[in-house]
Parts: sequence; C-alpha cells; structure tokens
Amino acid sequence: MSSKKIYEFADIIAIKKREKELEEREEKERIKFFKVCSRCGEKKSIPNFSVDKRNTLKGGRTNICKVCKVIENQEYYYKNRDKILIRLKRYRDNHRGERKTYYRIYQEKNREKLSKLAKKWYQKNKKRIKKRNLKYYQENLEACLLRRKLWIEKNKEKIKKYNREYKRKHKVLKAVI
Ligand SMILES: [Zn+2]
Repeated sequence: MSSKKIYEFADIIAIKKREKELEEREEKERIKFFKVCSRCGEKKSIPNFSVDKRNTLKGGRTNICKVCKVIENQEYYYKNRDKILIRLKRYRDNHRGERKTYYRIYQEKNREKLSKLAKKWYQKNKKRIKKRNLKYYQENLEACLLRRKLWIEKNKEKIKKYNREYKRKHKVLKAVI
C-alpha cells in the first residue's frame, strides 16, 4: 500500500467512526425526545406525557401518554363511581361547618372587591391566559378533543336543554322585534 492510500484508508476509518458516533448521538436524542406509551404502545414526543417528578428514571414524565391518561381516569371514575361519590359525600359532611361558613361569609362581605379584583387580574393577564390556553390546546390536541367528546357524551341532556332554551328565547326575541 502506498503512503497516499494509507492516508485515504485512515480517512475512511475516521469518517466511518464519526458517522457511527453521529448515529449513536441521534439515537440518544431520539430517546430523549420520544417515549413509548406503556398503555397504547405508540411512540410519542415528550410533551404528550405529563410531568411526573417522582418518575425520575423515565425522564420525569408519566409512563402513559395524556390520551391514555384521560381514558384511564374515565375508566377509574366509572368503575369506582359509587366509592368516589360516597367518599366525596363523607368529606363534605365532615367539613360542612367550619370552612364553608368561613369562605361564604368572607365572599359575601367582599363580593364586589373580589369580583373587581378577578376582572382586573383577567384583563391584565388576558393575552397570557389566551396564549397559554392555545399552547396547551395545540400541544395536547388529541387529549383535548377526547376530553371534549367525553364531556359532550356525559352532558348530552344538559346540552339539549340549553339548546332548547336558547332557541325558545331567540324565537321570543324575534317575535318581539
Ligand atoms: Zn398511550
């Protein structure tokens, strides 16, 4: 082998080595930015998983994606509905007195002040709130749509009633005009 060829050969080895390093780094990055949901088995980007500080081994995110979490919560709720309702009722019964009265009196006393404060805060933070909501919606589109669908399913009767009332009112208004 001539000395020139040896150089070329060394170059090729160096390039191959560099390529391998790059591939390995890319694979690492892929693991950092994507995660496989342990429930649906789909590979999704990290924002699709909720923050879970206890889960430090898995990058501080939950093992199941947000869409699956919504489904799981719903399933849990329906399976344990009676238990949950009883627990909530017991809690309400136990704490009926103190807290409620305190907050009610405080709110009644400061109704105007509180409402003004809330409005002021909203006006001041309107842009930020809207931006945050939109960002959340865009990042969690699938989970949001599913939650909306389930909400509609659950509140069918309420929505129907609201629509009926709305139509009735508008008919009345039209008739008056
Ligand atoms: Zn999933």
